[in-house]
Amino acid sequence: LSNSDEMTGLANYRYFNEMLQKEVERALRYNRPLSLMMIDIDDFKACNDTYGHLAGDSVLKQIASLIKTTTRESDLVARYGGEEFTVILPETSEEEARVVAERIRDAVAKSRFTSDTNRLIGPVTLTIGLSTLPHTAKSKRDLVRTADFALYQGKSAGKNRVVVFSETKRTA
Ligand code: GH3
Ligand code: MG
Ligand code: MG
Repeated sequence: LSNSDEMTGLANYRYFNEMLQKEVERALRYNRPLSLMMIDIDDFKACNDTYGHLAGDSVLKQIASLIKTTTRESDLVARYGGEEFTVILPETSEEEARVVAERIRDAVAKSRFTSDTNRLIGPVTLTIGLSTLPHTAKSKRDLVRTADFALYQGKSAGKNRVVVFSETKRTA
């Protein structure tokens, strides 16, 4: 079985799931922090519609590489689905993870992306949802659900932002 996503070279969903299970068990057993990021490209359908699907693929690859270089060797970056990515950050508190998420968001917002035919593509942004165990989530399922909820909140609030789950709860 392959662990990697063919297009981006990142970990695939299957491997992500397997590693998350292990990391959650370890974090809970030793009472260590574990953060999870859910990343979704903003208005990616429009990007495909404007520049074509191959240009979209090219953007996906460039974003994958940016996320990879902006995170640590000990973090696991995976392609979660079509235009969604996820990062597992072992031994990482909510505050530390927020700094990393903000760095990723900023790097992408400031980057210039090119299409498969080397055409310059308009600005691309990301919305990132973040949750931390055992702080706000108590299980693998909870961690994924809460990070996803935070991502959804970020989309509703206008995109191109990082939302931390524990803070959405306080204001909801
Ligand atoms: P939002 O800001 O709410 O995330 O809007 P969105 O347009 O990004 O979201 P939506 O879910 O409507 O569309 C996702 C788009 O991502 C549509 C789909 O064609 C595109 N997509 C998913 N996987 C791939 C892929 O592998 N390659 C390309 N080029 N596009 C992809
Ligand atoms: Mg999506
Ligand atoms: Mg999207």
